[in-house]
Formats: sequence, C-alpha cells, structure tokens
Amino acid sequence: MKRIAVRLPNPIGDVVAATPLLRLLRADDSEARILAVGGPAAQEILAGLATVDEFALLEPHDRRGPLAPWREAKVLRRLFAEEILLLPNSFSSALAAALAGIPVRVGRRRGPRSLLLTRRLPPIRRPRPMTDLYAEFVGADAAPPPELRVTEHEERLARETLEALAGHDIRPPFLAVAPGAAFGPAKVYPPEMTARAICLAAERTGLQPVLFGAPSESPLARRIEDRCRAAGCRAPFLHASIGEMKALLAHCRVLLSMDNGARHVAAALGVPQVVLFGATDPAWSDFGTARTTFLRREEVECSPCHRRVCPIDLRCLRRIEPAEVADAVARVVGHTGFEPVTSTV
Ligand code: SF4
Repeated sequence: MKRIAVRLPNPIGDVVAATPLLRLLRADDSEARILAVGGPAAQEILAGLATVDEFALLEPHDRRGPLAPWREAKVLRRLFAEEILLLPNSFSSALAAALAGIPVRVGRRRGPRSLLLTRRLPPIRRPRPMTDLYAEFVGADAAPPPELRVTEHEERLARETLEALAGHDIRPPFLAVAPGAAFGPAKVYPPEMTARAICLAAERTGLQPVLFGAPSESPLARRIEDRCRAAGCRAPFLHASIGEMKALLAHCRVLLSMDNGARHVAAALGVPQVVLFGATDPAWSDFGTARTTFLRREEVECSPCHRRVCPIDLRCLRRIEPAEVADAVARVVGHTGFEPVTSTV
C-alpha cells in the first residue's frame, strides 16, 4: 500500500483549495494511504474528510525559527511516506522533506529549492485558481469543487452555541459576517462601513447578524459590534474555533465576507457568500464560486496590488458603498431558499 504525504499550505483558503487534490489522489489510487501534513487550523478544516487517512500535525513551534526544517523533518520521518506533494513553494518545506529522506518529492520549481525536488512542476506564470494549480500535482488539468464536512463533535459544539445565543434572544436565520483577513489590512473593509452594511442588510432581510473571526481579529469585531449596537442592531462576535465555525456557518443563510478563509469554508459547505474584493486578484480564488457574489470596483487603477497594507486610501474597498453591500446580501437571500446545509459525518 503506497503512502503519499501532502504537505498542506498554511492559509485556510489554500487548505480548502487543496481538498480537490485529495479527492483526485484518492480516485487515482484507492489503495493508497493519504497522509496530510499541516498546522492545527488545517487539521480542523479537514476533520471529517474521508480523503485523509492520517493527519500529521505540525505545531506552530515546529514551523518557527532556523531549525524549523529539522523539526518538520522529524514529523515527516514518522510517516514512512514514499512520496510527498509539497504544496507550499517554500525552501524550508522542500528541505524538511529531503532531510526526512522521502524518496519522491514533488513541488514547484523555484530558486534553490528546485535542487531538493525529484519532480519539478513549472513555476506559476499567471493568476489561476489554486485548486487547478494543486490539481497539476497529479497531472490533472482541472479540479473538482472543494469539499468539507462537519463532524458530529463540531455540530454538537455549534448546537451548544446556538442554545446559548437563544438564551440572549439571538436566533437563526443568521447573516454570518467574517470581517477580517489574516493577509493584512489592505483586504479589510473599514469597520464603520462594515457596521453600516450589516445594519442595512439586517434591516432589509430580517436576518440576525453574527460575526466570525480569529482571536486576533477580536478588536476589529468589537469595533464593528459596538458600532452596530449604537445603531440599534445586535451583531455578536462568536468566539468560535475553526471547527465550530464550520458547523455554525452551515446554519447560516449567507456569509458576508472579505477575501478570506471563511469565504472558502462557506463555499465548500454550499453556503452562499457575498465577498468584497480590493487589493487581490479574484482569479487566484476562482473556485467553488457557484454561490459567490463578488463585489469589486473595476475602475480602481491600482487594483489588484497584492499589498498587505494600502499605501494610499484603500479606495478599492472604500468605493464600494455599504448600501451596495446590503443590496447584494438582500439579492442573495431573495434568490436562495433557507435550507440548512449541514452535512454531518
Ligand atoms: S493600492 Fe489600490 S488596490 Fe492596493 S490596497 Fe490600496 S487602494 Fe487597494
């Protein structure tokens, strides 16, 4: 039985984008053991997927500092993999695989890391959906849509949160909002505009807003929550783990989001999304978008800049009016009946 390791990328959206590759691997060789390797967030995202046989966890300290490749190699060695697909384009991921002695190491050609690979894929020349770029690792031209599952444990956590919210008279149907972006502030709609869009959308649709985000996004969420409250609209920040967020999103009617990981999680669960784009090129993340409404100002000459921090006035996002955002949410809600999309394993 062949053992194939897949070194996952770090961003949540890219982990979701790797799920079609896992399916392709399974379809290629149903006998092979598929060994996913990644951080705690990736482990939570992929929980419940039948396409992962084992998950090798890289703790955050395994991936920090100059000794990171040696620590990662120690984790990889325990897998006894014959082949590893290196989805990150970093030198350190290739070095770790070589140090672990994995015989077949597949990755993108890039500077000195190329010397550590045994099979080299061409460098990326133009923006393309990440799912298709990952599908190339198994020689496929295009990828199937991403998929995620909600585990029973995650669903139980979500139900407890829903009960606690009901105690405060906060009930579905929900308008989920994911206002942050780990990438940087250039991807974040200003909080006062987000709050305005939420209040307008809640008024027009009757949906109950709830905010999602990483712990580091708490200050942003608090500012939005406070502004909403001042406008008479309750929008609590749910301190949900990634696994619980997955389960809660499946109870939401629509997600209003930046170009962040939550939008990809929602898309893979079949939850419609309204996504605001500014600094980045949508071509990279054009996958699983059957239920995605993109809001983007085409006429902003500097977009896409792919900067983490805007050097000017964030016009790419500021020129999207909160009323337009609320309109888009209302349109989506009008076009989709409310069906919980929970898929539990
Ligand atoms: S430089 Fe332009 S595209 Fe980049 S973040 Fe600023 S306004 Fe947006």
